[in-house]
Amino acid sequence: MNNSSALVAFMVGWAVIGAIFTPIIFKRKGYTNMVGAFIGGALMGVLGGALILLPVWIFTRRKKATPFLSPAVPAAVPRAVPTNSTCPRCQQLNRVGAKFCSRCGNLI
Ligand SMILES: [Zn+2]
Repeated sequence: MNNSSALVAFMVGWAVIGAIFTPIIFKRKGYTNMVGAFIGGALMGVLGGALILLPVWIFTRRKKATPFLSPAVPAAVPRAVPTNSTCPRCQQLNRVGAKFCSRCGNLI
């Protein structure tokens, strides 16, 4: 689920909550306009959800290192780079990338 669909689901969820609870509250108060309560409740639910969401949006910092569209790409994981390689002939440790052994001159 990406960010925009999560936001839509959040808003729809609040609209449903508002649409369900507002008519109940209206009924207890003695109002009879249930359709109005349903629509108004849905709108109030979305607004309420947005009001709750707003501080979350403000206080949630966007990640800096991770590219926004490719969260699967790991951020600069330090790899264990071997610092030397062993000569197959004399077992001398040579630097990685060396073509010839520093001790015996063997081709690595
Ligand atoms: Zn060697």
